[in-house]
This record gives sequence, structure tokens and C-alpha cells, in this order.
Amino acid sequence: MIRKVAVLGHPILRKKAKPVDPGQIKSESFQALLSDMVDTMYEYDGRGLAAPQIHESLQVFVALLDFDESVKNNNGILFLINPQVEVLTTKTSSYWEGCLSLPGLRGLVERPNKISVKALNHKNEKLDFIAEGFLATVIQHEWDHLNGILYIDRMKDLKNLSFSREFERYHQGEQTQVLAIGGKDSFCSD
Ligand code: ZN
Repeated sequence: MIRKVAVLGHPILRKKAKPVDPGQIKSESFQALLSDMVDTMYEYDGRGLAAPQIHESLQVFVALLDFDESVKNNNGILFLINPQVEVLTTKTSSYWEGCLSLPGLRGLVERPNKISVKALNHKNEKLDFIAEGFLATVIQHEWDHLNGILYIDRMKDLKNLSFSREFERYHQGEQTQVLAIGGKDSFCSD
């Protein structure tokens, strides 16, 4: 079922999400939530979606990882529940990020480019892996949602905030790497 997406200004986007009870992961209602998250992510042509974005203040997000062969499973969908993220390097990567909760915008964000991730998946199995580069940025963007943080909070210079059309017109050429977490109107095809 496609859900309504909360956009910038809605208080739920600024709340710390509650941990999921692992005993509930296999329940019908929680599986239905995961399925709604996937449906909503596809409907808005996003690459990731955190539960608070569909008005559920729970520590879970989905990410579509069709760009990363190493984690391709479940049709390229990664479910991360109660994730713990640890930064492993001082090196950073910068990507133009978009977000379904900030439709029509893109911003350049610098983030650590290597992290370790511990979480549960949709089958209540333990995941423990290292993510680098683009994948590390996607996971940090979604993880931030669970802590009430949006990508604009991470921007060093708001001069690098742009409407999608202007981004495509004036900035896309400068950057080869574009993070298409955002929706159709902020998705940048290359
Ligand atoms: Zn987002």
C-alpha cells in the first residue's frame, strides 16, 4: 500500500525513532509496514525510505541498491532494522543528495566514506557489514532519518542547495556522482 510521505516541517521527521521489538519483525503487521515502505519508495521513484517518512516513528529503513552488486539480494532491496552505524575513516565523499521529504531539491553533502553497519534484516537475521562510498552515504542518509536529522543539516554550505532543474542545468556537469535518494522530480538520470 502506498503511504503519504511526510515532508520538511512535519515534526515526525525531527523525532528520534523508537527501536523495533525484534520479536515483532516477523509479525504480519510489521511485514505489512515493510511492504508499504517498498511500495511507497517505488511509487515516488526513490532509492531509500525511512519509516518516519511515512509517519511511523520506528528504527527501520529500506534502500534500493541496484547500483551495488555486492549487496544485491531481495531484488536489490536492503532492509535495516535497529541499525548501528560506526564511522571507520576520516576520509569523506561528497554527493548531491535528494530526499522524498524535501521534494524538488538537491544538496551537496560531505560524509565519511567508510562505515560499519550492524542491524537486523526483515527476517530477524543479524547483518554485520562494511559499506563504502555511495553505499555508505545512502545508509548514513537513511540512518540520520531515524535520529531526526535531514541532509540539509549536514550541508557545510547552503549555497550548494539547488532546485532539481537548476541542478541539472548548472551543477550536474560538475559532479559525476549523484545520489538519487530523492523522488522522480529530484532524480537525476545520467
Ligand atoms: Zn531522505
